[in-house]
Amino acid sequence: MKNMKNNSIIAVVIGALLAVIIGIIVWNAMSMKSAQSDGARQDKKLSVVTTLFPLYDFAKAVGGAYADVTLILPPGVEPHSFEPTPSDIVRINQADVFVYTGKAMEPWAEDMRSGFPSSVETVDASQGISLIEAVFHDDDEPVGSMDPHIWLDFDNAAVMVSTIEKAFENRDPAHAEAYRANAADYRAKLSALDGEYRQSFSACSTHQIVYGGHYAFGYLAKRYGLEYAAAQGIAPDAEPSAKDIADLVAQVKQDSIKYVFYEELTSPKIAETLSSETGAQLLELNAAHNIAQDDYIQGVTFLGIMEKNLVNLKVGLGCR
Ligand SMILES: [Zn+2]
Repeated sequence: MKNMKNNSIIAVVIGALLAVIIGIIVWNAMSMKSAQSDGARQDKKLSVVTTLFPLYDFAKAVGGAYADVTLILPPGVEPHSFEPTPSDIVRINQADVFVYTGKAMEPWAEDMRSGFPSSVETVDASQGISLIEAVFHDDDEPVGSMDPHIWLDFDNAAVMVSTIEKAFENRDPAHAEAYRANAADYRAKLSALDGEYRQSFSACSTHQIVYGGHYAFGYLAKRYGLEYAAAQGIAPDAEPSAKDIADLVAQVKQDSIKYVFYEELTSPKIAETLSSETGAQLLELNAAHNIAQDDYIQGVTFLGIMEKNLVNLKVGLGCR
């Protein structure tokens, strides 16, 4: 009798102990899981999809450690004729933030934006920027076509950085302070480089940029009071006419221009013709729409490209 009683007491004690142990294990597992999901939430970066390289570079600078930024354009691809693939559209649909340059550069993005889910914060980076009319255009580009190369004016670039910053803060308020600080830092760098440009063009032997490419530097020329002549209109899709080439050759000869510029990522054939017809030397002027594969791997930045452009412009325009 006594043994049976003792046995049942032992069974109750063991049962209670087991319940406590199981309880502790379950409680631990639950709290670990909860900690993991909190961690996952905190670690999950803002997923950002961008169209052109400047937007990609601005978004990376603003997002810093908290954003995972993708460039839709494959490195090295000419951007004006770019159309997104179905998998690009899937990527945009899954993003937290999608940034495009504006309807003048990417009409496809403007057309598609109403179809994106509400979970995607869609950002037109040209908002708040006054586009200028293209001074020079091809026959297939109507008079009054807007020049889409807004990022080649450093004030516009600063507005674009602020627009991206606001979208990030909106979508991820927990890191708003970091986005604000990163954006302010980037705008300060743009402003410093703008000062260098202004200073550099104050004493040059010519203010004429002759470009054996498409009309991409209208904003830059306007900003610094430079003259700009290009062989093609606002997109590099048409062969220049014989007359346009002849006019540029005449201009180079008449004004004794020593350097002509060629554009990035396309054949420098037009600039080479200008050079062989006039004896002018060649220099690159990179409008930074997209980035070459090697530069992408090496982490070349928009500011880096613009610094290199300034070096070449100072040589080409004979600045002190
Ligand atoms: Zn262009």
